[in-house]
Amino acid sequence: MKLGLAWGDVRKSHLNNAAPAFAICSARASLATAFERTLLVGQRKPMTKADVTILGAGPYGLSAAAHLRTVSGLDVRIFGKPMSFWQYNMPKGMFLRSGWDATHIADPARSLTLETYQAASGAHFSKPVPLECFVEYGQWYQRQSLADLDQRNISRVEKASSDFQITLSDGETLRSRRVVIAAGIRSFAWRPTEFENLESALASHACDHQSVSRFVGRQVLVIGSGQSALESAALLHESGAEVEVVGRAARINWLQGWASTTLHWKLGSVVRNLLYAPTDVGPAGISQLTARPDVLRKLPRGLQDKLRKRAVRPAGARWLVKRLETVPIRLGRQVISVTTVAGGRVKVGFDDGSDRTIDHVLLGTGYRVDISKYDFLSEELKNSISLHNGYPRLRAGLETSVDGLHILGAPAAWSFGPLMQFVSGTHYASRALLRSIAAKPAK
Ligand SMILES: Cc1cc2nc3c(=O)[nH]c(=O)nc-3n(C[C@H](O)[C@H](O)[C@H](O)COP(=O)(O)OP(=O)(O)OC[C@H]3O[C@@H](n4cnc5c(N)ncnc54)[C@H](O)[C@@H]3O)c2cc1C
Repeated sequence: MKLGLAWGDVRKSHLNNAAPAFAICSARASLATAFERTLLVGQRKPMTKADVTILGAGPYGLSAAAHLRTVSGLDVRIFGKPMSFWQYNMPKGMFLRSGWDATHIADPARSLTLETYQAASGAHFSKPVPLECFVEYGQWYQRQSLADLDQRNISRVEKASSDFQITLSDGETLRSRRVVIAAGIRSFAWRPTEFENLESALASHACDHQSVSRFVGRQVLVIGSGQSALESAALLHESGAEVEVVGRAARINWLQGWASTTLHWKLGSVVRNLLYAPTDVGPAGISQLTARPDVLRKLPRGLQDKLRKRAVRPAGARWLVKRLETVPIRLGRQVISVTTVAGGRVKVGFDDGSDRTIDHVLLGTGYRVDISKYDFLSEELKNSISLHNGYPRLRAGLETSVDGLHILGAPAAWSFGPLMQFVSGTHYASRALLRSIAAKPAK
């Protein structure tokens, strides 16, 4: 099943059409990083047995750990490089599509907000939030609440009698009563079959790049018509590449058009707040439902699926319209053939009989959840987790069918709705996890 991670209909009621030119978000934060890193080594706990081990230090892992640390006596460990997906797998220069209120990472005291970060660090930025500032905010959040985070990766999670055995990237092992997987979507990057066997010099996924600077002066074909494809195309164009966008969709859903602007501003804040939840996922009305996973879960399955699809359909932020004015965009076309040609180039054929020969194809083709692609999960665990089309079927507390194994973030979207694909879902997920674990203390 395809995960609509093209950020469609994430509401942008407050965005200007043009992206802001000025943002400072680094000064004090980077000084603190070096200092905290030194502290970290000294604070690391000896590896024995943990109550809860959290895999991943993106928004979901950080928020879950901060919440679970409020349970007295619970030994909670968290592993991974803070905010690494955002730092290394999204293009420099990108802006967040989610609104300001939907971009705080949930913390138990509700004090680690973007505003507190700005006040503490001296960072200056506004909406839309620049990627670099969000990365530094997340890293600051980690230093404030989880200074003992262990930056090593987890290479294996397997069942060991009633516990789990965790193997770290350097071979060290620990036992844990529970495991919370917050590994994000990197493993699910979707490459259409036509491009599967093409070498990475000729075709790559948008998440393979931290920057598009290597494409300066080259001809690049961007495939896709969602936010990631369109924003990559804008950045490529601005950095001096010759870009063309091709998408299957008949048209681009630009956000914040006339209808939504009318709803957002002309009808006033009372109506606006009735129609849209601060979580900022989905169009009018649906936004309120997606903000309430416990209600959404009770709806008939078919309806849940329809709402999820509608809430995250591919769409582009309004601020991209101007930036793409001179970039050719051809829609309603499907790739049918891909061949390499002399001179290290690639020829792509379309179902309308046309073709293009270019230097590189950039796939803005999104992500498809399939947790069998989490290579740290043992085969035994993969086979034990009850799934639907690659998504785990989760119970209360985002717990899989394997007792003690929880999965947060986008893989939770089939069970808890599209909110789980966004930072604003950390508020629901962390509290649900906390309630469930606090109610079942360690054996
Ligand atoms: C281009 C793009 C733009 C987006 N824009 C927005 C937006 O504007 N607003 C929004 O809310 N969402 C946005 N998203 C969605 C965003 O990815 C999720 O909201 C968010 O990352 C979810 O957080 P997470 O913690 O689940 O995943 P991640 O942020 O991906 O964090 C997972 C972490 O786990 C780590 N990890 C993985 N495997 C291991 C391992 N074996 N051991 C240790 N660590 C591991 C990874 O390195 C990573 O740091 C965007 C996504 C993309 C691709």
